[in-house]
Amino acid sequence: MSSRMTIKKIFSESKVGSKATAAGWVRSVRKNKTFCFIVLNDGSCQDNLQVVINDDVADYEAISSLLTGSAIGVTGEVVESGGKGQSIELQGREVTVYGEADNTYPLQKKGTSLEFLRDNAHLRVRTNLFGAVFRIRHTLAMATHNFFHEQGYYYLNSPIITGHDAEGAGEMFGVSTFHPDKAPRNDKGEVDYTKDYFGTNTHLAVSGQLEAECHAMGLGGVYTFGPTFRSENSNTARHLAEFWMVEPEVAFADLDDVADLASRYIKRLISDALEKNKPELDFLKQWRKWQKIEDGDHQKTLEHVRDSEFKKLTYTEAIEILSKSGEKFEYKPEWGVELQTEHERFLAEKHFNVPVIVTDYPKSCKAFYMKQNVNEEAGKETVRAMDVLVPGVGEIIGGSQREDSLSKLESRIEEMGMDKEVLWWYLDLRKYGSVPHAGFGLGFERAVMYVTGMKNIRDVIAFPRTPKSADF
Ligand code: ATP
Ligand code: MG
Repeated sequence: MSSRMTIKKIFSESKVGSKATAAGWVRSVRKNKTFCFIVLNDGSCQDNLQVVINDDVADYEAISSLLTGSAIGVTGEVVESGGKGQSIELQGREVTVYGEADNTYPLQKKGTSLEFLRDNAHLRVRTNLFGAVFRIRHTLAMATHNFFHEQGYYYLNSPIITGHDAEGAGEMFGVSTFHPDKAPRNDKGEVDYTKDYFGTNTHLAVSGQLEAECHAMGLGGVYTFGPTFRSENSNTARHLAEFWMVEPEVAFADLDDVADLASRYIKRLISDALEKNKPELDFLKQWRKWQKIEDGDHQKTLEHVRDSEFKKLTYTEAIEILSKSGEKFEYKPEWGVELQTEHERFLAEKHFNVPVIVTDYPKSCKAFYMKQNVNEEAGKETVRAMDVLVPGVGEIIGGSQREDSLSKLESRIEEMGMDKEVLWWYLDLRKYGSVPHAGFGLGFERAVMYVTGMKNIRDVIAFPRTPKSADF
């Protein structure tokens, strides 16, 4: 096995006439009179390797009868390819069959539906489509680490089990060792979490932001990149119960600084994908053509976004544009109400056609920790929040400058009826060496959707968790 080369390496490095060993999964076998063609893929790259086996090779009968999905290794000579679109192929001299697949292998025919592939999420990565998506996902993950590392930010692993609700949204999964029927109860009949594992009511984190703020206040700039959980019952194409979030948090920074950071980060994701995943992006274009899905020249659009300024405007300006647009929205755009997906998509897709950064939302729409703007008309108070909206997906980033005044933060927490006690450590940051700071959260799957052009978030994460579904 030590001599095994990935197909990617064979294509990029092997010279005609050299010896090579490839190993992968059989996509198809075509039998001729005295030889057969095996199309082999090992996941290392988009391209398949064509293997030719002559009938004088040992076990030829068995080899030439292999079915789609079988795993084999082939040692042979790299030769010029007769087939079009392929530079080289492998003239196999020795074949090892690692594992056969029979005719019940689910991925037989081309053009299997995305729904069918979701039901076979354990195998779908063996298709050209999901190979492309997951190689791009990898590029975006590496680009994330490289980008923040190069900017001088430190990678923070924030806790997954928490005793607080960062967003105040209450859409959390509980973490408990109690048996639901046997949980001890207090005098009031409520579940007594003081007797639970952590001695308190704990949940899966919806965000790592509050902990990232702590570390930003010592390391200067940090970013998290981890799983987050929301039990929201929204069965949409853009929400998962378990998704990955990238959350930079920066000390001595204001909203404009992180808006700029966000646009540079998104551009970096795009440029790395364009540079490293051309075959994957080309395949996705081809796939959309087969599926009769509008492509809108996706790669050109990505190039355009990489090279253009993001549009920045305030929420108030956005409401004005929406109100005057003449569009028939399901929800009327109104000052004081969160922008709906249809509004976000109108702004990003129709009106500006580049990513849009909307800032300064009404205070009532946003979380307790966002910095309050000053000198505002009563009833029109806003906070230094931003959402980044991209064509095709809608909101991809939510962020803000954080409130750094202890008194303002305390009164906001009280106003919102939240429990100040559990946040004592968060308030300490404003007591000891408080500084202006800001950050944002990017939904990693939304970024993968954006770059790949995939329309359903279930198709850009390996094993999606959604309402009524936690298979695999
Ligand atoms: P949305 O309005 O789309 O539900 P949000 O305002 O709840 O988003 P934030 O709390 O600001 O989102 O989270 C930051 C980012 O995390 C979002 O911009 C989005 O990209 C991503 N995100 C939020 N909820 C989900 C989810 N359930 N599944 C996947 N990504 C999500
Ligand atoms: Mg939400």
